[in-house]
Amino acid sequence: MASPVETSIVWLRDDLRLDDNPALSRAVELGLPLTVVYILDEESDGIRPLGGAARWWLHHSLTSLSADLAKAGSALTLRRGPAERVIRKLAEETGARHILWNRRYGGPERALDAEIKAWSAENGLDAESFQANLLFEPWTITTGSGGPYKVFTPFWRACTASGEPRAPLPAPSHLPSPGTGSRAARSDTLADWRLLPVSPDWSAGLARTWEPGEAGAHHRLDDFLDGPAEEYGNGRDVPGVEGTSRLSPHLRFGEISPFRVWHEIRLRFPREETPDVGIFRSELGWREFCWQLLYANPQLATRNYRPEFDRFEWQEPTPAELKAWQQGRTGYPLVDAGMRQLWQTGWMHNRVRMAAASFLVKNLLADWRLGEAWFWDTLVDADAASNPANWQWVAGSGADASPYFRIFNPVTQSKKFDAEGRYLREFIPELAPLNRKAIHEPWKQPDLEGYPAPVVGLPESRERALATYQKLKDQK
Ligand code: FAD
Repeated sequence: MASPVETSIVWLRDDLRLDDNPALSRAVELGLPLTVVYILDEESDGIRPLGGAARWWLHHSLTSLSADLAKAGSALTLRRGPAERVIRKLAEETGARHILWNRRYGGPERALDAEIKAWSAENGLDAESFQANLLFEPWTITTGSGGPYKVFTPFWRACTASGEPRAPLPAPSHLPSPGTGSRAARSDTLADWRLLPVSPDWSAGLARTWEPGEAGAHHRLDDFLDGPAEEYGNGRDVPGVEGTSRLSPHLRFGEISPFRVWHEIRLRFPREETPDVGIFRSELGWREFCWQLLYANPQLATRNYRPEFDRFEWQEPTPAELKAWQQGRTGYPLVDAGMRQLWQTGWMHNRVRMAAASFLVKNLLADWRLGEAWFWDTLVDADAASNPANWQWVAGSGADASPYFRIFNPVTQSKKFDAEGRYLREFIPELAPLNRKAIHEPWKQPDLEGYPAPVVGLPESRERALATYQKLKDQK
């Protein structure tokens, strides 16, 4: 009897791309019949289920990936279930001898990957993993004493001093075809996963705003490099203009590699690094820093990074207050415009994220976990590391956190960063009749209709927050 043909499996996770995908490139080198699988794992211990907006994104991203793989002579196999069981079964079905993946850095994900690696070794399979989604893997950047960094600036200095990130790998023009006959893997039908919202279908604004998938990611990068990149230092703070890259959901799902982004910038701005380019790179650095924090603190989404905050006296917001914040009806235009932008498009400008988050945790004194959970459900870029790390940063409970006395004033912020009220008008049509001066403080307009009065007063709520933080400090 002829010996069975060996095959390989590439297991795609947060790397839904062909370009700069080391696991796929390795599969090309092996040249064996190849199964490319994505597993929807909602059952393995500790894996955080995706929120609604991310599920919408995933559906479209997988559709796009499937078409891209088909063009390269391959196919996408979809399976649902606990990843370890699915991988074992798939290896049996296809006769795989090689399992390849790009690394993940969350605690439960790493535990799962380690189990699969151990099982592979015991069963004579070769499991190989690669660096693809972070420029600097957490264990390679440590302090003098070997621990993780707690402050961004020295972390990023250590990263950049450790050498230039490797060059990105080109997308393979042709991939080995899947096995045939009994070795061909059966795939689920994407529609059966029901990732898209129905009754109600709230996704129209997302569809108008985004192009999920690898091509969309590259369009975003090109648009950014052709336009806002050169003015990024100032432009990034102005929510009424497209001053940032909007690459976050594409990076989140790995539709574009950070190595590709890094090197494209290098190519486009080859000479002296302008301050704008340096600032943009350091924002990519914040993404790395957040992952390094999650790597060292797998419970970052549920536990205070600074344990003294376990004693902090958060106040349970009333259902009406929480709803007002979620729906963009707090009476503070910048917060409301941000929360409506989030609801309509699945994304919010970074400066407004800081202001909206500060309003919830400081003016309403609500536990940051409430806000983190809402963002997790509504952001298309909801990221297991960046979301909790930034919420904790705003709350003061996090690493290198904003000091407790820094309470964003939504009125000052909107006067400063949206002086003309362009952003406010885009998302709050009720305020459109107000002029550039009046729009930031609509409660001063007695005749204005249809826009709510402030849910809390700014001076009182600020005092209450400061007193609560002071109490925590005094207990030390
Ligand atoms: P750019 O300004 O173009 O930056 C380029 C890239 O750098 C981003 O795509 C992102 O990958 C990274 N980056 C920029 N700022 C940060 C930051 N502060 N922390 C980590 N990475 C950063 N970002 C997420 O990707 N996912 C989240 O779930 C998320 N939740 C957040 C929650 C709060 C409360 C706050 C204040 C910020 C959060 N951020 C999150 C960070 C930041 O707001 C977004 O990364 C940024 O707005 C994305 O837009 P952009 O791609 O145009 O960014």
